[in-house]
Amino acid sequence: MIKDTGPRINTAPRVRRLHPGRTPTVWRARSSCIACNLCCWDTEMLLLPEDVERLEALGYRREEFAEPDDRGLLRLRNTPRGHCVFLDTRTGRCRVYEHRPLGCSFYPIVLDPRSLEPHLDPECPLAHTTRPGEIRRARALARRFRSIAGRAQG
Ligand code: SF4
Repeated sequence: MIKDTGPRINTAPRVRRLHPGRTPTVWRARSSCIACNLCCWDTEMLLLPEDVERLEALGYRREEFAEPDDRGLLRLRNTPRGHCVFLDTRTGRCRVYEHRPLGCSFYPIVLDPRSLEPHLDPECPLAHTTRPGEIRRARALARRFRSIAGRAQG
């Protein structure tokens, strides 16, 4: 087992005053997913305002899990070891799966960090199972991020 030596996010947030809500279901995870977790390493996953609110409602502090990019968009932080702060490397599972950022539920479609165009992550062994309708839905997500970035840049 790989020992995770990076700083840990608070795994048991004490603040649970708000009902956090769950991530809307975009589509069900591929039943044949081998849980390799590649999608949770070196993440550049962008965060919608509601993603940030949902994770904050669980008790996590924004500065623990998010960092700004140069366009004013927020994205998930990686630990110094290079994986998303929410990936539990002991179990291989996402600590916030039911509340994860909406973009995570679009995987294996990811947005290009610069152009914000959706494309398939070639590292995902199941990328070839993506359907055209899924790409169309990801384009709507991309439009939201472009709109947020446009407003942030004035
Ligand atoms: S939030 Fe969860 S699903 Fe998304 S990159 Fe992090 S560990 Fe993976």
